[in-house]
Parts: sequence; C-alpha cells; structure tokens
Amino acid sequence: MFYTELKNIYSRKKFLESKFPLETYYPRMNHFITQELRLGATFFSPFRFAHMFGIDVNSSVSFFLSLSDKNGIFSKLYKYECDNCDELNILKSEDELMNFECQECNKPGDLSNSSFLSDVKLLFKLKDIFYEEAMKDLKAHASFDSPTYKSNSSKEEKEVDSHSELSLKRAFEFNKGQDEQGKEIVRDESLDALRNRLRQKLGTA
Ligand SMILES: [Zn+2]
Repeated sequence: MFYTELKNIYSRKKFLESKFPLETYYPRMNHFITQELRLGATFFSPFRFAHMFGIDVNSSVSFFLSLSDKNGIFSKLYKYECDNCDELNILKSEDELMNFECQECNKPGDLSNSSFLSDVKLLFKLKDIFYEEAMKDLKAHASFDSPTYKSNSSKEEKEVDSHSELSLKRAFEFNKGQDEQGKEIVRDESLDALRNRLRQKLGTA
C-alpha cells in the first residue's frame, strides 16, 4: 500500500524521480518511518531524515513537502505556541490556521505580523492507513530485533530533532522550485493554496 501510494505520487510529480529515485527513496523512507515509530514518534521530521541518510536539509524538506499533498502519505499539522498564554495549539487544517484563535485564551493570530509565519511550525504525521500498515510491519518483525538495534539513534540525533522545526515561512520558500528543464514546480499544492489565501487576506502581492 505504502509503496503503491509513493509510486502514485511519483507518477503525478515527475520532478521527484531525478532527485529522489524511487528505488532508493522508497526503502529509505520505509526504514526511516519504522525507526521513528520504534522510538515512539508521532511526527516525522525532514531534519531527522536528512541526518539519517546524510542528505542536505533543504532537499529533505522539499521531499517531505512533495509527499504531503492532499493525496500524500503525510498529513500536515500546524503548531503554534500562543504568545499570550503559551498554550501549544495544534491545528489540523489550513482553515483553522487562517482563522486562528488560541484554544486557551482566544487571542486571534496576527497573520499580518511577519513573525507569525516563522512561529507557526509544520508537523508531518503519517496518514492513518500507512501508520497502521507500518505498525503491523513493526510488530511482525519485533522478535527479530536485537536490543542493540535501538541504540542506533544516538543522543546526538535527538538533539538535532529537538532544535529543528520547519517553520511555515521556510516551507513556503521551499515549496516552489524548478525542475531540471527550468520549468516551475510546486511540491505541495495545498501549501501553495494556503500561501495564496494568506496573500489575498493580507493584500500583498
Ligand atoms: Zn493563548
């Protein structure tokens, strides 16, 4: 199922294959997801993925964005810590973000404040169907794991994780690019739609 979905994404987004060959990146992503689930992860970080395979962070971010469209393998959540009451708000949709109001103190989000876009962080969550598949796999193979296997995730890796979060601002920057022929590409259409809505609302070009 997971492989089929990745293949579907690759057939829609032709620009992926040259930079992230499916035959290499399918096993990588599969391995990454399994490892992270083993550690109890709920959200999947492009920074940790980059770290695990020694690829550059920007590529990793653009790869994750490409897999997080409406029909992708990840769903996107938006995290925002209220600057008034420190409540951690996790928003499940672009609509919630557009009409943001703190769940605790009801303070509205100031979309026109440029720091707002940096303060909103993107979280990648595996869609239920793939989560269940991966967990099943994990359980099926659990008995083969040696206890030392877990120690692969070093303290260092965890530090990378705790300091690296993808801001909405940065995600916007990496969401558009060019393919090898110089043609403009959009990695995640839903994120691009959000950006356009924000621009319209703020009246900026
Ligand atoms: Zn608040």
